[in-house]
Amino acid sequence: MGLQPRTMMLAASATLALLTPAAGAATTTGSGGDLAAHCAALAQQMQGHWPDPSTRVQKAESVPEGTLPVFGPFDAKPDPVQPLKAHCLIDAVMAERKGVDGQSYAIRFRVRLPESWNGRFLFQGGGGTNGDIGNGLGFVPGAGLTEPAINQGYAVVSQDSGHDNDTNTDPARGGQVAFGWDPEARRNYAYASLKPVADGAKALVARFYGKPADRSYFAGCSKGGQEGLMFAQRFPDTFDGIVAGAPGMSLPRAALAQNWDVQVFSHLLTPDGDGKRSVFDLAKTFTAQDFSLIRKAVLDACDADDGLADGIVAHYGTCTGARLEKALAQVQCQQDGADACVESAKIKALRESLAGPKGRDGTPLYAQWPWDAGIGSQDWSVWKLGLSQPPVPALNVVVGGAALHGIFSATPRALGANPQEIFQQQLAFDFAKDGDLIYRTAPPFNTAPWDEMSARSPDMDGFRRHGAKLIVPHGVSDPVFSVNDTTGWYRELDARYDGKAKDFVRVFPVPGMGHCGNGPATDRFPAFQAMVAWVEQGTAPDRLVATAGAQTPWPGRTRPLCPYPTYARYDGTGNKEAAESFQCTGR
Ligand code: CA
Repeated sequence: MGLQPRTMMLAASATLALLTPAAGAATTTGSGGDLAAHCAALAQQMQGHWPDPSTRVQKAESVPEGTLPVFGPFDAKPDPVQPLKAHCLIDAVMAERKGVDGQSYAIRFRVRLPESWNGRFLFQGGGGTNGDIGNGLGFVPGAGLTEPAINQGYAVVSQDSGHDNDTNTDPARGGQVAFGWDPEARRNYAYASLKPVADGAKALVARFYGKPADRSYFAGCSKGGQEGLMFAQRFPDTFDGIVAGAPGMSLPRAALAQNWDVQVFSHLLTPDGDGKRSVFDLAKTFTAQDFSLIRKAVLDACDADDGLADGIVAHYGTCTGARLEKALAQVQCQQDGADACVESAKIKALRESLAGPKGRDGTPLYAQWPWDAGIGSQDWSVWKLGLSQPPVPALNVVVGGAALHGIFSATPRALGANPQEIFQQQLAFDFAKDGDLIYRTAPPFNTAPWDEMSARSPDMDGFRRHGAKLIVPHGVSDPVFSVNDTTGWYRELDARYDGKAKDFVRVFPVPGMGHCGNGPATDRFPAFQAMVAWVEQGTAPDRLVATAGAQTPWPGRTRPLCPYPTYARYDGTGNKEAAESFQCTGR
């Protein structure tokens, strides 16, 4: 689910130098010239002033200018990696307690307070199953935040959402999803940790600089996107603006879809003598040629619908029906063993996957997925099938299976100790019988996982009343959360607000892009800058000019990303590699 481990989630390389710092407020120096002393004094100054009195500072450290950012080994890094600007680093903890599962829990958060402050506050969303305090640098490419916010002068907070992967991990309880055995830890992961951390960080900012932030923002992708929507729906006055990239708004349903995919693609496996299928064989089901032919079919059918055959299906919503079927038929093998074609069973499995999970009597349990040119990219395959070289089991198994039963079921259980065991449990899952398990309760889990974890409400009255703005970028080839779920939500929102949802919410599908980045796509986009400009200058984002990275067939190409339901259409004249030759249109 958003359950993208940081290894994957932040694998998006962000080769991006074109971003300028956010426009706006004048720089303020908050520290009175002695950052170290001011930082050291902060812990004591906050005593008696924390919104949550259980809060205490664990570390206060003055970080001088020039110190290189501490990125994890798998974190995406800005390119070039810039020296970090001088700031005060605070690690704090609150709500320390013993869970009903006997484990020790707490909510930990990290705040970076720049010496040269731009008057703004940023909450950096988490990823995957969280459990990591985050780096607090404010570098979130999937939310279009591609220059570390700390270096732009933002005060930044990140948090672990109430459990710690270093201490709360239990191999007998699904590893890092072991917190799912404690109701409060689940609730904190779902939403409950968010507001107290925002409040605590805001109080810290106000004390450090002698005044509250002029503006407060949120940026996150995946689970972080879910957190942005949680804020908008449950704590709507917290932020002036939010970028919620590829939001896990329907986390539990997406976990069902992952189990569905596992079953659908397993039909392509040949059982051994004992009738057993191997999880590692999933990655061998589709060859590179298979995916190349499938992409060819999608492009043959739909690429030119946006006025230009350029490898980008901008008008992806109409990529269905007879033309697509005809193109798929043309790459499908007419007889077994034929060359340069895709076996019909593979196309059938892909079709079933993209149609989304079905419960009893064929009831849809999540959303459909678009036919798009990013299907079969590495970013897509690692979730749906895994990788052969080096062997990586499908994340739909190791992440999805653990999460569905550890966090999104009222009665948590561990599926197994290794990918093969989890896989076999997923194969045995009965959608007709248990397709509704995410809606059930069982003591001590008295709220259904769906009610706690989902952030899909079209009721955004509070957020709208607050005058706040929301931007939602989402990859059309995202294998984790379907862009169709996001746009379906947007349609509900637009209906609720009489066709005027665009006055405060805009969804930007990114054709070809995977989960929070990657794929054959223009996956570098200034969504965060655009959101700030919308809030501070009232400039609504009618298009975002996005750039293709080095991993694409067309490095440096630019395209407008268009607010749903419009798409980028080629004018018929002008530079085919440049965004200015394209218009956002609904035609
Ligand atoms: Ca095209």
